[in-house]
Amino acid sequence: MKVAVIGAGISGLLTAFHLCRHCEIIVFEEAERVGGLSAGFNYQGYFLEKYNHFFSAEDKHILNTLEELGLYDKLYWARPKQVFFSKGRQISLNSPWDLLKLDGLTLADKFRLASFMRSAALERRMDFLVNTDAAGWIKQKCPDKVYERYFRPLFEFKFGSSFADISALYLWARFKEKKNKKIGYLKGGVGVLHECLVRHIQENNGGIFLKEPINRLTYNPTSGWQLRSLKQAMDFDAVVCCVPFKKVEFLCADVRKFLDGSVPQIKYLNVSSTLLHLEKPLKKGYWFFIVDEKDSAPLVIIDTSALNGQPFVYVPEYTRGNSFSEKDENIRLDRIKSVLKNVNPDFNNNWIRKSFFFSDQDVEPVADNAFLSGLLNIDDFSQGIFIPELLSAKPYYLKTLNSCALKAKIIAKRILEKNAGSSTS
Ligand SMILES: Cc1cc2nc3c(=O)[nH]c(=O)nc-3n(C[C@H](O)[C@H](O)[C@H](O)COP(=O)(O)OP(=O)(O)OC[C@H]3O[C@@H](n4cnc5c(N)ncnc54)[C@H](O)[C@@H]3O)c2cc1C
Repeated sequence: MKVAVIGAGISGLLTAFHLCRHCEIIVFEEAERVGGLSAGFNYQGYFLEKYNHFFSAEDKHILNTLEELGLYDKLYWARPKQVFFSKGRQISLNSPWDLLKLDGLTLADKFRLASFMRSAALERRMDFLVNTDAAGWIKQKCPDKVYERYFRPLFEFKFGSSFADISALYLWARFKEKKNKKIGYLKGGVGVLHECLVRHIQENNGGIFLKEPINRLTYNPTSGWQLRSLKQAMDFDAVVCCVPFKKVEFLCADVRKFLDGSVPQIKYLNVSSTLLHLEKPLKKGYWFFIVDEKDSAPLVIIDTSALNGQPFVYVPEYTRGNSFSEKDENIRLDRIKSVLKNVNPDFNNNWIRKSFFFSDQDVEPVADNAFLSGLLNIDDFSQGIFIPELLSAKPYYLKTLNSCALKAKIIAKRILEKNAGSSTS
């Protein structure tokens, strides 16, 4: 059986890893290196990820894969401090008791918030949340000001103007993910995982074609799926599209007719990130959430020195719509400098040794009810085209390395079952 994978991000590499011992497999990647959003680069002896990646202790699918690859021992775990900056106050948010320090809420409100978060994280079933929006769920359980003061800024940070549409299922999945505050970091970054997967795929005669974007995908009932790049056209029995669905539609305008389900129009988020190499750690802590700067959207600052001793600071920003210009980069850097000074008054611009700026389009669908209710079951991909982004892998509604690992496994299993079925018939 011949299988093509479009995209050598973590989803594509993991799918190829599971299949390469059993099928003929080729991964096509448009970039000059593998990794997609989890890619990185070498800088002064460090491997730096474009965007910072960590694992949570609940990420059992990707952690199992690390174990299988002999990489589990390369993880180090920490319980770094998370800090909420609000109205000039710093509140560390590391236990439900810390919620008692939030201002603008009565003691009763804080208890309701803490108990809501605790019971939501323990909730095993989520069917009652289908088609409920997160804001409605929170307001049902807590006073409105709990939503306004605590949740709304978090949703605004991630989803911008779509914050009100976020599904309760997304929030529930986040609570589950964050049940345990332990954070794992792979020594050498996710690049170590990429290297290991690439080695394994190549040792099993799988192909990884870099700088080879697929620009057309067509189906023929006798010869199967044909992929076209600028260099060649090749036929495959199955294709796994590890790129945004928006892109799949661009490659194959009538792709919806090959899916046994109705997929809604998806809204996507873009991301940009400023990465700073500092002289020294910014402050004791890892994740800083800055809420109340006048006229500005909330900001998250991640200082990796709390995890791995390396004084790098990531400042991600999600947007919908426009891409970023050089002018935006400079405006952003000025704002970040002033916020860093806010976080640590000793900070001055000379602490910055080097700055980098990255941005990517369509990195993640907005997790609204329309998107989540349009997700497909594995049986809906009966025509040999598989799209991890559209695959419902309950209960994981988040786009994380863990959900990529789970979906890669489900898709590979289904392809192998089909292969076994067709070779015995
Ligand atoms: C700022 C940020 C922080 C994050 N932090 C975490 C974290 O801490 N923990 C966590 O678990 N997850 C995190 N994530 C999520 C994680 O990065 C993603 O879930 C994961 O990397 C998605 O992998 P993917 O392979 O599905 O997609 P991608 O990484 O987007 O890979 C898609 C690949 O397809 C290629 N491609 C596109 N078009 C074509 C084409 N026509 N032909 C061939 N190739 C093509 C692209 O070049 C790319 O390499 C974070 C994401 C962001 C943006």
